[in-house]
Amino acid sequence: MRLAPSPTGTLHIGTARTAVFNWLFARHHGGQFLLRIEDTDKERSKPEYTANILEGLQWLGLHWDGEPVIQSARIDSHRSAIQQLLDSGKAYRCYASEAELTEMRERQAAENRAPRYDNRHRDLSAEQEQAFIAEGREATIRFRIDDDAVITWTDLVRGEMRWSGSDLGGDMVIARRAPADQIGDPLYNLVVVVDDATMAITHVIRGEDHIANTAKQLLLYAALGAPEPEFAHTPLILNKEGKKLSKRDGVTSVSDFRDQGYTAEALANYMTLLGWSPPEGMEERFSLSEAAEVFGFDRVNKAGARFDWDKLNWLNSQVLHERSPEQLLEDLQPLWSAQGWSATDSSWLLELCELLGPSLVTLQDGIAQARPFFERPELSEAALQQLDQEGARPALQALLQHLPSGHLSAEAAQELLGKAVADAGVKKGVLMKTLRAALLGSLQGPDLLTTWLLLQPSGEARSRIERSL
Ligand code: GLU
Repeated sequence: MRLAPSPTGTLHIGTARTAVFNWLFARHHGGQFLLRIEDTDKERSKPEYTANILEGLQWLGLHWDGEPVIQSARIDSHRSAIQQLLDSGKAYRCYASEAELTEMRERQAAENRAPRYDNRHRDLSAEQEQAFIAEGREATIRFRIDDDAVITWTDLVRGEMRWSGSDLGGDMVIARRAPADQIGDPLYNLVVVVDDATMAITHVIRGEDHIANTAKQLLLYAALGAPEPEFAHTPLILNKEGKKLSKRDGVTSVSDFRDQGYTAEALANYMTLLGWSPPEGMEERFSLSEAAEVFGFDRVNKAGARFDWDKLNWLNSQVLHERSPEQLLEDLQPLWSAQGWSATDSSWLLELCELLGPSLVTLQDGIAQARPFFERPELSEAALQQLDQEGARPALQALLQHLPSGHLSAEAAQELLGKAVADAGVKKGVLMKTLRAALLGSLQGPDLLTTWLLLQPSGEARSRIERSL
């Protein structure tokens, strides 16, 4: 198994999902999950994208075996495979110029025909070749694809597949244009086959957008005398309109999801569900290792998988609710620091995490919900109205009178509430609601007693009550 990302962008959710299926399959069968960085597109490949991809895979827990293979370092093998195809007459030089090819395609379009190379230079005589060279023409190298070739394979997801050579667009370019005595830059289908064969890849698991490439690649395996791997083409990830998920849908990179406060566990769990359904009796919330135990392509769907934010949010909240306060603090502390928030008392921080944990959907919620514990909030309209209710201020006043400074236990706080209610002659509900308005500036928020106890030691509870009065 291998993942072969091109470092021409950040780690896309589609590539990450392909990585998940490769990883699960490899771990299920005790095989290896290898990584190959396909950096042959020199203009678009960037080291920062490679870094983003490696980091994203590691973050998700999709650890690969061995060192990543860097495709550009293998160019000599690619060239020698091309030479082998030239020598055996399975590939040839095509001298057609860009202008000629454009004209050919325009003519095909005008006649409503599908664009394809018309194999015009497939059988040039030595004299014709010499004439083109004498004109100073450069050549691409094309691999012969016979129209009557029939390509079949048993896809692990899609079952029996059958392609006709005539549907593959004519003889395929395997090396870019270069002077006729050289071999230009080798192209995708050729390099993938050479590399997969060299890396002894037994299973190629990738998105269904590569199906036509698989047909071409199988012809190359045969021509190079390399054993064919098995193929599994996984369904595309669709947006809620049923279209391929793209940049226009906003979040598409693993790092975007991370920035939005999704956990690696929830995202990996969710990506597994994008196309795979767990066997009966297995919950939808699982770890990658749990999924690896039962993973197989028999439960991978052929149809595209619609991205479902509600499910991802649900899984993320499950993961966050399962976190211990210590784990949650590890996640939240960097986010809090970025806001300029800090506290030296670690037990205070852990109590805050324990308070917020059950209501978090994303880690970003842990910023919004922690804010009133680090910054004094404004009083909302609703809070101001509550303070104006009959008995509200007298109740707070009474509480303030009994309020000690420093740490307070839950029992002591309950006792104080009782006293204040009795002194002011109001219902307990009135005091509670007003206290919430005073402390949080809002009528919503986490458990009131805990909130108060957290704001108590620093004197912040007293200050906020005083402000409200
Ligand atoms: N570099 C190709 C891509 O990112 C790899 C496809 C494959 O797995 O063969 O789409």
